Amino acid sequence: MHDGQPTAVTGDQLVASQFNCFVPSAFDGIILMYNTASGAFAAVSASEFEDIAALFDNPDSASPDDLAGLVEAGFLVPAGYDEREAVRQSYFEGRAAETGLNLTIAPTVSCNFACSYCFEEHPKRHFSDADLRAVSAYVRDNLEAGAPLNVTWFGGEPLAAFRQLTELDAALQEITEERGSAYTQFMITNGSLLTEKRISYFASRPGFTGVQVTIDGPADIHDGRRFTSAGKPSFDKILANLKAIEGRFPVSLRINLDRENVNRIPELIDQVIAEGLAGYVSPYFGHVVDYTDECGDLGETMLSREEFAAAEVRLLNLMIRKGLRPGFELPRPHAGSLCVGDAPGGAVISPGGLVFRCWNETALPESEAYARIGENGAVAVNSVKESRNQFWKDYDPFTHAECRTCAVQPLCKGGCPWEAEKRPVDGPGHCTPLRYNLPDMLRLIHLRDSVDEIGSTDLPPLPRQTV
Ligand code: SF4
Ligand code: SF4
Repeated sequence: MHDGQPTAVTGDQLVASQFNCFVPSAFDGIILMYNTASGAFAAVSASEFEDIAALFDNPDSASPDDLAGLVEAGFLVPAGYDEREAVRQSYFEGRAAETGLNLTIAPTVSCNFACSYCFEEHPKRHFSDADLRAVSAYVRDNLEAGAPLNVTWFGGEPLAAFRQLTELDAALQEITEERGSAYTQFMITNGSLLTEKRISYFASRPGFTGVQVTIDGPADIHDGRRFTSAGKPSFDKILANLKAIEGRFPVSLRINLDRENVNRIPELIDQVIAEGLAGYVSPYFGHVVDYTDECGDLGETMLSREEFAAAEVRLLNLMIRKGLRPGFELPRPHAGSLCVGDAPGGAVISPGGLVFRCWNETALPESEAYARIGENGAVAVNSVKESRNQFWKDYDPFTHAECRTCAVQPLCKGGCPWEAEKRPVDGPGHCTPLRYNLPDMLRLIHLRDSVDEIGSTDLPPLPRQTV
């Protein structure tokens, strides 16, 4: 049930939710019912669905008991209930209620790679000892007792400043223990510097939830895009490091798709399986887009949003049939902030104690930072950039006209604010691929969840691709 939705309703007061998505599954005679505003999901037989459809057509003929489950799941809503306003409220109220700190920390902005599509410049700036003291003091001053601290280690390549990372990690651990706060950490790394010593370190850290590592295809493709700053290949090294993790923590394997690699990904999938990574490595797909001016000239190689959505379905389908568990879950709407940018306790902190709001800004110079954290933890705001910070504080993801009629708005809410802001308000924001592939993604989730029961080789084909 949605927040604020009246509970005592009779059939003649009910209508179908505008966020319902009912699709035939890949299995004969099974219908999938999903609602993008509540996240409710059910697989029902065709005959059960016929009965349910009759209730939708004529709810006032049904008993309250028959209706209760459908109302609870948000498939039926009271007539006149403003579902879009409820989505809007859940965003703003959820955001206002957030506590704790959501920090992206780049202990260095330099990187040992020079990827062709990277969105950052990589000046050689690492955390100094003064920066370590500054960030520790900042967290000490700003983390309320019992509120969570979530850290994403980012860069550059965060493992290029491993000493600084571990020293800060120890300090943050101490602070969160004192405060009775939960401390979680995740790391985005290119994977090339994950030595055994470092793997053991992270595996032993409480609250370490895993790493995201990118491989963009089989060796020749990957090495043509993700090479070291000395121009050396990186595929073999990364693969060996992923094998060395041996399931000690989860790995999100990001595969960035564009026209140049999309048809070679099946080879990478085969290799991930052959190397024995399937149990702890969860592949997912990223869309190569020109986020910032630092991205190379991507031009013709970029997939459109629709093409990316179709490729995602095709490749996830392939993975499931090969017995690999892809890293995707049933899409769930959530109240509150979209990312570190619009989170009240969000900050991206880079060397020099520089504070930004978006990952895309991490490596920018001090003149672009909206604030700087001093050694005593005090935040000095850059008055020239304060208006930029205000943009994030006031961020409203509901300004784009096309979003107001979009069926997946509760899941997307205009998408990445950095990208949405670039787009004219009379069109869409930064569309989630789910706008184009939700029916197929529901079928894939149902297929994947059926693997344990019937095995990956006996799955029925997807009925048809909708994108
Ligand atoms: S605004 Fe977009 S790019 Fe920036 S941190 Fe948020 S999701 Fe990432
Ligand atoms: S950005 Fe696109 S997918 Fe997202 S809510 Fe707006 S129209 Fe829908």
